[in-house]
Formats: sequence, structure tokens, C-alpha cells
Amino acid sequence: MLPVIALVGRPNVGKSTLFNQLTRSRDALVADFAGLTRDRKYGEAFMHNRRFMVVDTGGLSGEEEGIDSAMAEQSLLAIQEADIVLFVVDCRAGLTPTDQSIGNYLRTQGKPVYVVANKIDGANHDIAVAPFYELGLGELFPTTATHGRGVKSMMAEVLDTLPEEKVEEEDEATGIKIAVVGRPNVGKSTLVNRLLGEDRVVVFDMPGTTRDSVYINYTRHDKPYTLIDTAGVRRRKNVSLTVEKFSIVKTLQAIDDANVVVLLMDASESIVDQDLHLMGQVIDSGRALVVALNKWDGLEEDHKAHIKRELDRRLQFIDFADVHFISALHGTNVGHLYESIERAYHSATSTLSTNRLTRILEDAVSVHQPPLVNGRRIKLRYAHAGGSNPPIVVVHGNQTDALPKHYKRYLEKTFRRVLDLHGTPIRFEFKSSD
Ligand code: GDP
Ligand code: GDP
Repeated sequence: MLPVIALVGRPNVGKSTLFNQLTRSRDALVADFAGLTRDRKYGEAFMHNRRFMVVDTGGLSGEEEGIDSAMAEQSLLAIQEADIVLFVVDCRAGLTPTDQSIGNYLRTQGKPVYVVANKIDGANHDIAVAPFYELGLGELFPTTATHGRGVKSMMAEVLDTLPEEKVEEEDEATGIKIAVVGRPNVGKSTLVNRLLGEDRVVVFDMPGTTRDSVYINYTRHDKPYTLIDTAGVRRRKNVSLTVEKFSIVKTLQAIDDANVVVLLMDASESIVDQDLHLMGQVIDSGRALVVALNKWDGLEEDHKAHIKRELDRRLQFIDFADVHFISALHGTNVGHLYESIERAYHSATSTLSTNRLTRILEDAVSVHQPPLVNGRRIKLRYAHAGGSNPPIVVVHGNQTDALPKHYKRYLEKTFRRVLDLHGTPIRFEFKSSD
């Protein structure tokens, strides 16, 4: 399970700057999708050979009594669910009463906390950092987040405290891992029960903490599947009831661990920002995707037309995904989800030989040459597979850094069409020999 590191601190201390530093290398792999609002509070990072999730708990002020916004609640929940907390403070501002109350709160959480003494630039380190020892929260790391200074060495120590990542053995018996995700009340529990209801179901609990989703192993038409239940339908009885039913951290971990994500939205309402944020996370994860518009039962015709227009407008960047209009309550079209899940899984995991990929590349280049740069033509020579779920195509050539976006899009379209990929994103990495 992807470890979670939460960034905590007053506004303006440098959390989002640090967040960007931590997730930057990772973002380079993720394609740009114009028009997609990004929730920059959750991101996957890769450093010192470790993958982890970073959560920027932006909303925290240290006076969380009477908290009413869902966002702040999610921030507190993220702290509870984090493996490690980075408490960011501002050396220029010095120690403030708010820092102290956040510190007091963190001390009650029983999490490993590291104090990031940020904005150290231009100051004498020892003097600037000294006041923060009063927090009594252990080790202090001086950083200049704007330049990334101190970040790498800090992370080396922080990540060192995480347990080794278990290399997962792909177990044939668990079959396709499906995560049903969506914002609260879209019908996840209803759909999970519906997906399981008609089949012989074997449930096993994963050992772990309250934050974990429950993995439900079952068979349908003699094929094994594992449903990652984020909705808490089959939650163990001894689990604390104070745990929120909906958790973003849990949702992101489920997405990360799934082969195929079923993104559920509520057609009786409309497509809202939170749906789009989740969609952005699914795209970033590279997982195969099936979109389901739930509560399609009993809708007025003009509302249905409105939803379809909204889909056309807002889902352009996931035009690779199948969309289904379902009623989890009545079971309408739920069976069809499986067809899309199967197809997406096979597209996402099919073996792509170097021969085949190189031939597709050569054909694409001969139909439409890459442009000239400084009087020299960009050369694309051969391609091979670099991973699956999502499929990664590694393209070797010259001057590939100068390859324009529209050409990359053309390559993506061509490969997608020729390889007959459905329901999965496809990623490209370009390697240049000059
Ligand atoms: P957040 O509200 O905690 O997320 O803070 P931001 O990351 O948005 O940073 C607030 C301001 O502090 C921005 O203007 C940053 O450019 C600036 N800042 C962040 N880190 C540093 C740093 O290490 N040194 C200096 N001088 N400024 C910084
Ligand atoms: P979750 O929070 O995403 O797990 O959502 P639930 O499964 O608890 O469903 C929230 C509400 O929507 C409940 O009252 C359900 O009965 C209702 N609901 C779920 N699916 C459907 C559906 O297909 N049609 C209608 N009309 N209501 C539904």
C-alpha cells in the first residue's frame, strides 16, 4: 500500500511549494490535459527509489474546533491516515502561537512528525531554526523549498523510516482488481452490493489498520475478481466508527492498487468539481478506467440530455474510457460494466513486442514526419514497451526533447488505434541520443 506523507502547517509557510518539489519528477511523466481542474493537494511522488503519496493539508489553522468545512475535515483525516507528518514552519516568521497549537494537536496523534524549518534562505541556520525546538517534536530539517534546498537530504532520512515496500506477487487467483470510487453518496455501497449480490462471494479481510479498504475476493462466471471496497460495505465490525466513510487517502490508495477503476458519478445531480478531481487522480495514476453515471432511473429526458452534454464537454480528455448509464439500485446495465472492465484490463496489460511497436512507429513517421528543428529533422528510430497498466511506450530517437505536443498527440492516437486500446491511458517516454 502506497505510504502517505502529510504536509501540515499554517498558511503561507511553503507547503504547496514543498508539495511541488516532492511531486515534480513524477508529474513529468503525466501528460497535460487542458481544461482539467487539478486538485493540487494530493500527488504521487518518487524519490530515493520510493513511491509515496503526498497530501497537502492546506486548510489547517490549528483552531480546528467547530470545524465545518468538509475540506478541513479531510485534512484532519489525512493526518490520521498518514504514515508520516511533515510539519512545515516558516523561519522568517519565527515560532507563532498557531504553530504551537498545531504542534500540540500533532503530539496527540501518535504519528512520526518531522519539523520542516522552511525559508531558511539568507539566514544563519542555527539561529533561525532554534526557536522551533520549543515545539518538542524532535528532528528539525532546514529547507529552502523554493529552490528545493535541503529537501532531498531530508527525504532520505524521512523515507528511511518507512518499512520496505512489499513487492507484490501477482496472484492469479485474485483476478482483476477493481476499485469502485466516487464522492460521497453517488451510490458506491449500492453498486458494490449489486456487483456482489448476484455471485458466489468469498470475502477475506486484509490485515491492517482502520484506513485500509477491504479486499473482497469473488468469482463471477467462474472468473476471479477482487473488489477493493472503499465504501466500507464489508467493513469489519471491530473497526472504529469514528472513521469517516469517505476518505480521499483511502480512495487514492485504492486507485493506486487497482487494475481497473470504476469511477461512479451521480446522474441525478450533475458533474461537480469533486468528480473531476477524482478523475484527475485516476488519470495521474494511469489506471484503466470505466465511467459509470449512476441513478439513471427515473430521470427526466431533458435532465438526461443535460448530463450527456456535460459529459461531452467535461470528459474530452478521457475519451478513451467507456461510459455507462446505470442504476445500481435496480441493477440496470450493471452487467455491462464487466464487459468494459474486462476490455480495459486486457488493453492495459497486453504484451507489446518491440517489433510491433517499432513497426507502428515507422508507419506513423512515414505518414507524417516529425518537424525540423534548427534545420535538422527530429528522428524517431525505434520503440519498445516500458511497462503495463498503463502501457508505456519508450521511443528512442534524436532531438526528442523538441518534439511538439501535437506530434505526441498524433503518436498517441496512432498507437491507440493500431493497438486497439480501450479504457486505458497510454504513456510515452522519449529517449534522445543527442
Ligand atoms: P502554503 O500556503 O503553506 O502552501 O505556502 P506556499 O507554498 O504557497 O508559499 C507561500 C509563499 O512563500 C510563496 O510566495 C512562496 O514562494 C514562498 N516560499 C516558499 N518556500 C520558500 C522558501 O524556502 N524561501 C522563501 N524565501 N520563500 C518561500
Ligand atoms: P455511497 O456513499 O457512494 O456509498 O452511496 P450509497 O450507496 O450509500 O447511496 C447513496 C444514496 O443513493 C442511497 O440513498 C441509495 O439508495 C441511493 N442510490 C444508490 N444508487 C442509486 C440508483 O441507482 N438510483 C437511485 N435512485 N438511488 C440510488
